[in-house]
Amino acid sequence: MIEDKNQKRTSLSELGEFGLIKHLTKEFDFIHESTVKGNGDDAAVIDFKDKQAVVSTDLLVEGVHFDLAYMPLKHLGYKAVMVNLSDIYAMNAVASQITVSIAVSNRFPLEALEELYDGIKQACKIYNVELIGGDTTSSNKGLLISVTAIGQVQEGDEVYRSGAKPNDLLVVTGDLGGAYLGLQVLEREKEVFKVNPQSQPDLDMYSYIIERQLKPEARKDIIQLLVDLEVKPTSMIDISDGLASEALHIADQSAVGVNIFEEKIPLDPQVISTCEEFKIDSTMVALSGGEDYELLFTIAQEDYPKIKANPNLTVIGHIADKQEGNHLITRNNTKIPLKAQGWNALLDS
Ligand SMILES: [Mg+2]
Repeated sequence: MIEDKNQKRTSLSELGEFGLIKHLTKEFDFIHESTVKGNGDDAAVIDFKDKQAVVSTDLLVEGVHFDLAYMPLKHLGYKAVMVNLSDIYAMNAVASQITVSIAVSNRFPLEALEELYDGIKQACKIYNVELIGGDTTSSNKGLLISVTAIGQVQEGDEVYRSGAKPNDLLVVTGDLGGAYLGLQVLEREKEVFKVNPQSQPDLDMYSYIIERQLKPEARKDIIQLLVDLEVKPTSMIDISDGLASEALHIADQSAVGVNIFEEKIPLDPQVISTCEEFKIDSTMVALSGGEDYELLFTIAQEDYPKIKANPNLTVIGHIADKQEGNHLITRNNTKIPLKAQGWNALLDS
C-alpha cells in the first residue's frame, strides 16, 4: 500500500551505534532554558527551578502497536511522540523534553530511520519539545521505539486522576472513535492489497479517521485553553484506551461513581457514516475504541459557565457517589453498567 520510493539503502553497520545516534539527532535544536545539557555526555541535565518535573514513558512494538504495512515511518515517529506528550498534558503540565530509544533489525536501512526521525523532528518542532537523549540497539526482529517525555508544572497546578468529586461535570475534548475506525479501514485495505497488489484504494471519504489513526495530535492547546478560561480540572486523564476505560480510571482513583450520557458523546460525521458501513455501534467505538488522545477531565459545577460555549469541550456526564456505581445512560434513558472492554472486545464482535 505504502511503497518505499526511497531506493537508497545505507546499511546501519556502516555507521556503528554512536555514529547512528549522532547522524539521526544532528539537526535537533535546544530551545529551552531548562535544558542545561542535552546530547553528548553520559546523561542530560535539566533544571526546572521552582517547577515540578513530570515524566512519562511508552514503548511501541512492531506487530503489537503498529503495522508498517500501512504506517509510514515518518508518521510512526510523530505518533510515538504524541502518545507520550498526551500523558504529560493529562497531568496539566507542559512538555519540554523527550528521549527516544529504538531497537532495530538490520532489515531497516539508514534511510528508513531518517524517515522515522523526520517525524520525531516535526513533532518536536510543532510541540516545542527538545530531543535530549536516547539509545539505539539492534533487534532480532522488527522495530521497537520507546519515548520518554518530560514536562513541567507549577506546584499546585498538577491534576491527578484522583481528584473528582460527586456532582463534578465530566468533560471530553474533540471527538471520539475516529482512530479506531481509521485502523479498521487501513486493515481492510491491507487485506484487499494482499489479494490484489494493483488496487489503488480511494480513501478520500475516510481521510479524517485515517489521519486520526496515523497522525494523532496531543491536546497541548487544551492546557493553554484551561489557563485562558481560568479552569482547573479536578481530575484528568488522556484517552488512549477508550472513553469507558479512562472514565473508570477516574472513578476508581477518585473513589466516586460516573455517569456518561450516550447522546452527549461527540462523534465526527465520518465516524457515524463509517460505523454504518462497518455495521458497528458508534457508541461502542467511542467507549472502547481508543487511541484518540483526547483529554477527559472533571470540573466543578460552578466552572460550567466558563466552558459551555467552547467548541473544543463537551460535557458528557457527571460524577456521582461511589455507591451509585458507573453507568452509561442510553438515548432511550436506560441505565447500563459502564464496562471497560478495550478494542479486543470490538474485534471479536
Ligand atoms: Mg495516559
